[in-house]
Order: sequence, then structure tokens, then C-alpha cells
Amino acid sequence: MFRVKTLTRYAAVLLACAAPVVPLAAQEAAPAPAVTQQVPAGAPKLLVAISIDQFSADIFAQYRQRFTGGFARLTQGAVFPAGFQSHAATETCPGHSTILTGNRPAHTGIIANSWIDQTVTTGSKVVYCAEDVSKRSSGGGGYVASPVHLLVPTLGEWMKKANPAARNVAVSGKDRGALMMGGHDIDQVYWWKGKQFVTLAGRELGATAVAENAEVTKLLEKGAPAFPLPAWCARQDRPVQAGSVTIGTGHFALKAGEAEQFRVSPRLDRATLDLAVKLVDEQKLGRNTVPDLLAVSLSATDYVGHATGTEGAEMCIQLTQLDLALGDFFASLDKRGIDYAVVLTADHGGFDIPERLHEQALEKSARVGSAVSAQALSATLGKKYGLEPKNLILSDGPSGDYWLRRDLDAGTKGKLVDDAKALLEADPQVEVVLSAAEIAATPMPTRSPESWTLAERARASYNPLHSGDFVVFLKRGIVPIPAPGPGYVATHGSPWDYDRRVPILFWRKGLTGFEQPSGVETVDIAPSLAALIGLKTPQGAFDGRCLDLDGGTANTCGASK
Ligand SMILES: [Zn+2]
Repeated sequence: MFRVKTLTRYAAVLLACAAPVVPLAAQEAAPAPAVTQQVPAGAPKLLVAISIDQFSADIFAQYRQRFTGGFARLTQGAVFPAGFQSHAATETCPGHSTILTGNRPAHTGIIANSWIDQTVTTGSKVVYCAEDVSKRSSGGGGYVASPVHLLVPTLGEWMKKANPAARNVAVSGKDRGALMMGGHDIDQVYWWKGKQFVTLAGRELGATAVAENAEVTKLLEKGAPAFPLPAWCARQDRPVQAGSVTIGTGHFALKAGEAEQFRVSPRLDRATLDLAVKLVDEQKLGRNTVPDLLAVSLSATDYVGHATGTEGAEMCIQLTQLDLALGDFFASLDKRGIDYAVVLTADHGGFDIPERLHEQALEKSARVGSAVSAQALSATLGKKYGLEPKNLILSDGPSGDYWLRRDLDAGTKGKLVDDAKALLEADPQVEVVLSAAEIAATPMPTRSPESWTLAERARASYNPLHSGDFVVFLKRGIVPIPAPGPGYVATHGSPWDYDRRVPILFWRKGLTGFEQPSGVETVDIAPSLAALIGLKTPQGAFDGRCLDLDGGTANTCGASK
């Protein structure tokens, strides 16, 4: 059933979008199911979908009483403090792929930030989720950014299919953030790269992006002083050693010419939001005959989290500044008189560094050892079976998907998976190893995401086109960075709730606010927004359900519930 459903979705996206998707779809294309839209009276004119990269439910809970700006406004709306990126591979690309498609990675095809494709003949076998591999040049160099791997339509694409006049615009600090929220059929899309905002290959930068880039260039040339330390950040403002890196006391002074310091700071989010407002004007978003969509993915929280963890002065300042920047962003929309609805969520959660967690009552947290790796497994099992160890077993890190060399026969593959499972599960840092067969045989869960088993979480991440031969889950609290280095001391990506749980906040003028502590999913966002604007998608278009966003007697799901 899963495969049939997936192919139908390929067909839908193929017919909805100008860009080619995958040859498989062309062979089995079925007529696209109809999407219709009857915009209800009083519907918002602009849907604003914001993703805060690595904004976990835990840091939302930690800071929410401090917020006075944009976050404070959103906490007056429909508040779901226990939203879930319900799948196991809690990385940026899969997470962003769920938010506006309403589909889990099993259906979006975005199983991880990167996966191994052994059929690739140019360059590395590691394929980036937002990369068009067919455009690789044999000389190496950078990749060509593209949403080509995204297998299902985004909400903006459904809106454009129902009403071609609808505008679909996305901006982000990362290409994958913008492309996974925007999709294939997108009017304007920009992301930060190096020292400026850029767009898809073959497209010109619009005047608005050129203007924003000029402002950022001026700031980069000049530099900027550190941000003030709010009083409530003071107790976090203490140095902690992670390997050779000292973190905990950064206040984000910007040295002239240091684009990297700009990227890992609240300034990146401020610039992304500035560009978003400029695009609202340029594209006349929210002033159209039909509703438009603006997707904004704000990346700095993730960069700050990776570079300095979640519990230092750095994250405290980042969230304080982001709250203010979001407040200014909403005020800009208000000033323009635009009738908009907002959803804010995250692509995944996050986790602090073991070195600081040890001081804070989580003594069991640790960094992963070198035994849990494709190289170590290849060496041991290559020797056992007399197989060449080079590229016998491949992975893109110690946790997550692992692949066996594709030319092995099924019997050898089966033995290798069994042995890898036995070897790894004997390691005290490993929770479980699940084979692709076990995961594929697990029914897609239908219960509330709090109660899913690890196999069910893996199932929501599993797509046979891209997934590996087995998956390795480390124990709770084991950080898959063996040796911390500058810019990379902490991470996410695990199937544990510190990485799965994210807030989901909806806000719209006039809605009766409420707080619902029970678990919901990020795949519920697209059907909930679709209902607000009277968009009816074909049965089965979404894995999620419509959430009634009005805490009073009104029901925003209406007939489409
Ligand atoms: Zn992310």
C-alpha cells in the first residue's frame, strides 16, 4: 500500500510542477487528483510558516516566560508545546520536508540530510538531500541546489495548483530549509550562502535580494559590537571546555569581514527576516486575489546550537534577539495592514554537550566512541568473510542509516546485517540496530507520537528509494560527535524526544487562544493551514490531520476535518 501511495504522490507532484522529478514517476504516472479551493469569507490573505532550526520544545519551555516579542505574541494563539517531528532521523532536511508537505519522511523521500547512493557515478556516493546529482561536474566543486529529491507537493504548490495566481515564496539561512518548505514550483526562493543570499541556478537575483545583500555587505565590512547579556542569561555565562574548544561565554561581537561570525549569530536571522519583509513588498504577498504563502526558515539557532550547545550564554542571547526580530517582523506585517496567519515550529530539537550536562545532573551523557562506525564494522566483517573492507559498509556518521556494498548477494548481505547487529548491540552505547526488512515490515504508526516504539519512529523515516540496509540508534544521551571541534560541539538527529519534540504555535488575529499539551505532529500543520484557506486536497494527500486552531466554539477545520 505504501508504495502505491508513494507513486500516486509522485504523479501528483509531477503534474503539479514544471520541474522533472524521478524517472520512476514518469513510467507509472496517473492523472493528478483534483485540488480545489473555495476561499472562505474572512480567510487570511497570507500564510506565514516559520521554522526555527533546532528550536526544541525543551528550550521553548526554558525561555518562554522571558519572551516579550514575536514569541510572546504567538504564545497567545493556539499553543502546542508538545509538537513532534515524529520520525527517527531528526535532521534539518527531513524536518523541513514534513512542515509544509504534511507528510513524514517516509513519503517525502527526505530520509536524512545526506544518504549514500551507490549508483552515482560522478564524485562522492554521498548525496545531499537538496542536491541535483545529475548536475554534478566531474571536476568536483560545489553542488547544484535543488528540491529534486522531494517526492510530494508542498502546501504552496497545492495552493498554486488550485489557483495559479497564488504566490509561493521561501527564504532561509540554508538552502535545504528554503527548498524543502517551498518545493518545486516556487515563485521566489533565497537562502544564505557564504557572504550573501542566493537563489536557484539559472535564476537571477531579484532587486530585493540585491538590496538586502548590499545591506549585509555593509554590516560585514563594518563589524558590530557584542549583544547585551540579559540578566536572566547571567547564570549561563560561564566557560565550559569541550575538547579543545571553550564555549559558554560568547556574546557575538562581529569582527569586520568575518562572514562566518555573522552566520553563527542572531544577525543571520535578522537579515533573513528583513529579506522576507522586502519580498512581501516586492511580490505583493497578502494583497492578491487568493491567499499567498511565505515560508521562512531561520537557521541561526541551529548554528549557535552546534557551535556552542543549548545551555550557554550564546543560546540565551540568540533566543532573546530572535524574539525581538520576530516581534519586528510581525509589526512590519501589521503596519502593511496584511491579514495573515502564522505557524511557527522547528525542524527538530536539540541536545546540549556532555561536558556541561555532566555538571547538570546528566552524568550518563557521553560522546560516541570509535567502535560505532562503518569503518570499524567494515574492517571486522571484511576480515571475517574475506571481503575487501574498503566501502564494504558505508554510512554518513555513527548513527542513522548504514549501507552494504550493493554488489553483494542477498545471502551475504543478510549475514552482514545480522553480524553488524550483534556486534553493535554489544556496545554499551548502542540502543538497537534495526534492519531495513524489520523497519519496512512495521506498520506506519497511527497512535499519538509520544508512544511510538523506536521501530515506528524508524518506519516514519524509511523510504526504500533512499534508506540504508540497517539503522543504528545510540542510547539516549550519547552524542554522535566523537571529537568536538570549532563550530561543531553539539548536535541532534537521534530518535529521542529531546530531538523529536518541537513547539507548534499558531497565531491569527481573532482566534481564541488555547494550550493543548497532548502530542501533535508537524505533519498536522499543512492540513490545518489548508483548511484555513478552504483548500481541499485529494484524500491521502497528507499524513497529518487538521487541528482546530480556535479554542472557542468556532472550528477552523470546518467541513474538511
Ligand atoms: Zn536543522
